[in-house]
Amino acid sequence: MPLLTVVHGDITEQDVDAIVNAANNRMRGGGGVDGAIHRAAGPGLLAECVERFPRGLATGDAGWTTGGDLPATWVIHTAGPNYSAGERDRTLLESCYRRALEVAGERGARTVAFPLISAGIYGWPIDDAIAVAVETVGDALAHAPTSVEEVRLVAFDQAKMRSIDALIRSRF
Ligand code: ADP
Repeated sequence: MPLLTVVHGDITEQDVDAIVNAANNRMRGGGGVDGAIHRAAGPGLLAECVERFPRGLATGDAGWTTGGDLPATWVIHTAGPNYSAGERDRTLLESCYRRALEVAGERGARTVAFPLISAGIYGWPIDDAIAVAVETVGDALAHAPTSVEEVRLVAFDQAKMRSIDALIRSRF
């Protein structure tokens, strides 16, 4: 089975084939990890988003662009549910991880890094955001044939990293 790992760090610095962006429906850039990815990838990323996503992206869906100036070859964009605005359907958050992994597999990516989707500005309760990430990615890697050999969950702070690590160890 492919590896599921966790690291503490900045997703824009990950040396992987694909990084996942916690984007939004408009697909025209934003704050948080989205802003960091656009800054690190360079202005070409926004131009590519406009070209590839003229109508944006539905919540729970995912699509790809190239990585621009990032170490990663691909950015897989997914629009998480905005818990703070009342979008609280867990299956939408699960769908973000599943669809992003499918798209990464379609690109032939072998290594993929994820942030904790919806866990920042969109306000998803952190313990549940971590549970959805670990359970959904673990389940998808166990059951769906894919080119992906390693999924790295990237925690922006050490406390989240330790919580994710503990859950991975208890589940797998
Ligand atoms: P959302 O709008 O989906 O909630 P955010 O970008 O606000 O997305 O936050 C998602 C998660 O990404 C949060 O846990 C936040 O701490 C984390 N994060 C923010 N910047 C980075 C980064 N550069 N690398 C990795 N994780 C990040």
